[in-house]
Amino acid sequence: MGRPTLAVWKFASCDGCQLTLLDCEDELLALAGEIEISHFLEASSAAGEGPYDVSLVEGSITTPADLERIRHVRAVSRKLVTIGACATAGGVQALRNFADVEEFASVVYARPEYVDTLATSTPIAAHVRVDFELRGCPIDRRQLLEVLAAHLAGRPPDVPVHSVCFECKIRGNVCVMVAHGTSCLGPITQAGCGAICPAYARGCYGCFGPAPAWSGGRPNTRGLLPWLDMTGEEADRLLSTFNVADFREEAPPGGHSDDAPQ
Ligand code: SF4
Ligand code: SF4
Repeated sequence: MGRPTLAVWKFASCDGCQLTLLDCEDELLALAGEIEISHFLEASSAAGEGPYDVSLVEGSITTPADLERIRHVRAVSRKLVTIGACATAGGVQALRNFADVEEFASVVYARPEYVDTLATSTPIAAHVRVDFELRGCPIDRRQLLEVLAAHLAGRPPDVPVHSVCFECKIRGNVCVMVAHGTSCLGPITQAGCGAICPAYARGCYGCFGPAPAWSGGRPNTRGLLPWLDMTGEEADRLLSTFNVADFREEAPPGGHSDDAPQ
């Protein structure tokens, strides 16, 4: 029996999550020994024919052609894993979901009539069945390896669904909110990065999206916002980045008070 086959697919995205796979420098040879990387156009133009045992899908659905292609990817994939905020939440390009995409196109493109796009940017799970969602912008290298190793071992991936705050405690970080009054989305953000930003005295800006996303629970986003040292408008902007669609589901713009708790 041959090695399991892996395919990597790109939709609307910046390629950063695919690069995370190439960034597994120390582990890449061992991985290639266990899995046949059969279709990965970012790394090789030689594309094997499906079906594939595992497909990693980066990017969101933003065009009519994407809609057709993701159904094909699902049909040729035994397991489909979405990687990154674009694929799991629609990405920063989901800002269009709250605006007029035709107005955006007219500002950005000299000939907007050539642009064939959808009014929204949506996650892969909105269109086809997804076996696992790996969050982050970009995804974490160790979590990606864990998902692939779990597949090889036939067990569920050990990917935490708690918040970044847990990772700060594990890492021994001083809490930037308590110690310095720095606004931080760590309490409502999915773990996985190892609390990188607070480790460098910066507030988390939520690139892993709302926690605990995979388990179906919901963070208390509205409860946190009044505690941030910022106006309501600034808080709206903080939530309007890579996971804007998911965060705005939790806290619509202007849906909180500018009055900080006493
Ligand atoms: S999730 Fe972030 S790093 Fe990954 S493809 Fe999207 S924009 Fe790039
Ligand atoms: S601390 Fe927050 S913003 Fe920084 S990398 Fe981690 S999840 Fe992303």
